[in-house]
Amino acid sequence: MLCFWSYGCVMTTYDSDMQEHDLHILRHVVEEFDGRMALDSAVIQSGRLPVGTPVELLSWHREHARRRFLHTTKGRWRMVQQFDLIIVGAGSGNTIPGPDHVGWTIAIIEKDKFGGTCLNRGCIPSKMLIHAADVAETIHTAAPLGITARVERLDWDRLTGRVWQRIDPLAEAGEEWRQTQPNTTVFKGEARFIGEKTLEVNGQRLTAPRVILAAGSRPAIPDIPGLDQVVSHTSDTIMRLPRQPQCMAILGGGYIGAELGHFFGALSTEMTIINRGDRLLQREDEEISQRFTDLYARRFTVLLKTQVQRVRQQADTMTLDLSVDGRPQQVTCEVLLLAVGRVPNTDLLDVARAGIAVDAQGRVVTNVYHETTVPGIWALGDIASPHQLKHAANAEARTVAYNVAHPTRQRRGNDFAMPHAVFASPQVASVGLTERQVQEQGLPYVIGKRAYSATAYGWAIGDTESFVKLIAHAETRQVLGAHLIGPHAAILLQPLVNAMRFGETVDQLAHDTFYIHPALTEVVEQALLEIAPPAAQ
Ligand SMILES: Cc1cc2nc3c(=O)[nH]c(=O)nc-3n(C[C@H](O)[C@H](O)[C@H](O)COP(=O)(O)OP(=O)(O)OC[C@H]3O[C@@H](n4cnc5c(N)ncnc54)[C@H](O)[C@@H]3O)c2cc1C
Repeated sequence: MLCFWSYGCVMTTYDSDMQEHDLHILRHVVEEFDGRMALDSAVIQSGRLPVGTPVELLSWHREHARRRFLHTTKGRWRMVQQFDLIIVGAGSGNTIPGPDHVGWTIAIIEKDKFGGTCLNRGCIPSKMLIHAADVAETIHTAAPLGITARVERLDWDRLTGRVWQRIDPLAEAGEEWRQTQPNTTVFKGEARFIGEKTLEVNGQRLTAPRVILAAGSRPAIPDIPGLDQVVSHTSDTIMRLPRQPQCMAILGGGYIGAELGHFFGALSTEMTIINRGDRLLQREDEEISQRFTDLYARRFTVLLKTQVQRVRQQADTMTLDLSVDGRPQQVTCEVLLLAVGRVPNTDLLDVARAGIAVDAQGRVVTNVYHETTVPGIWALGDIASPHQLKHAANAEARTVAYNVAHPTRQRRGNDFAMPHAVFASPQVASVGLTERQVQEQGLPYVIGKRAYSATAYGWAIGDTESFVKLIAHAETRQVLGAHLIGPHAAILLQPLVNAMRFGETVDQLAHDTFYIHPALTEVVEQALLEIAPPAAQ
């Protein structure tokens, strides 16, 4: 097949056997229109595109070559717009274009809002809403401090409006700014592969020698009888409810259910959390997950080992028929939130069509350089990463931005000691291996555990439930894992993440630095001292 490219964007393909005469005509077209010619058999699968003879092309090309974009198919030829780089997804993908790509023609394809999940329906709005929930919870729990207070009234529009008035303009401005960038073309629509490095969006076909997949993931929808007959929500829609529900059921005991449960629950929505397993936050270290489950069971109705058999709409409410540890039970709620996990958007993109391998979870398989099984196609963020975290996607985007511009000296990604946090109440934060994982790997280990209540600041905040659990290698003395549950866990974890990344030992961490007194960081110091008492130096 021969591809002809001219004026930056028009490409015509042939799947006929090229004769010397045809090539001669094409060369003539190239010279005449000051374009350039690329012979690339892998660009578009032949046979799927209408074709024309070079003579037909020549006459058409003379007529149309100066038009920048051609959206239609005429007669027997098909246009494909040629770029230097195509990026699918304007979440983390929108951060890719930079100084390394100056002068490149770049296509960015986005089917929804710029900013992706994190900005529009994920990390940022959820944490802004959760801050309001934390304030309400502080008011609810002030009595033991000698402060009598109560939440008089909730102004839902103001509470949620604060978030959307801040976020929505950012998404719009981000798109507008990108639209004005020289050499960048924004395509608004859902992209789908139609060949190895060729995508179709809104009927237009684009190709590039380099493609970056940053198309993220979406909420999984469980297969439950009756679910398609009721109005249910996912994290995509729940944060934009027009009013606060009186009662709500959350299906799923992972971090999204935990965080959004805290948000609505702290504002006094009656909450039921339904979980298949026997603990919430099941991926956390068992002690953390058990403590979290116990604390949530005090705040909300938590149904464990539970399956939903059927959902039925009844006027303004819906009823869930459950099997709770084998016993039938019903729950009635006004709003149902489905938070049972996320699926990568590889199916929407039809990555198989491009020959890109996916794993058992449907995620794009990448190597240490974040390149897929097709050279010249990279993938980052939720579509490829098991971490499903924004800071992971950001780091991968930086690596891919470099690698796409420097294919002969690519940088390796490094996700060692990837931390995460759950911004619920209590907060949870973790890095590295859980105790069970350490045991499964047969590593010799020691544990340092300390309750917040053992520190001065723990007394100050009247904490009775929170703790830090550190796991260190018994011989190398390096941190294998750190698990925290309690106020500011995400902040307290950070020095332990750094220690893991930089290979510091628990002895160094315990003895070779200072911890501000009486800050909450002393709880980390004390856990370290359990493993590395002064005499062990
Ligand atoms: C409720 C919630 C809370 C979260 N909280 C946190 C948190 O506190 N901390 C944290 O680290 N992470 C959090 N996350 C996870 C985080 O949001 C994601 O890991 C991160 O946004 C992934 O970035 P990404 O660029 O891979 O995907 P996205 O940001 O989802 O970007 C993908 C983009 O691709 C577009 N797209 C998809 N398919 C196509 C297609 N075929 N054609 C064109 N465009 C397409 C989508 O519209 C989207 O804009 C949270 C997620 C949720 C849902």
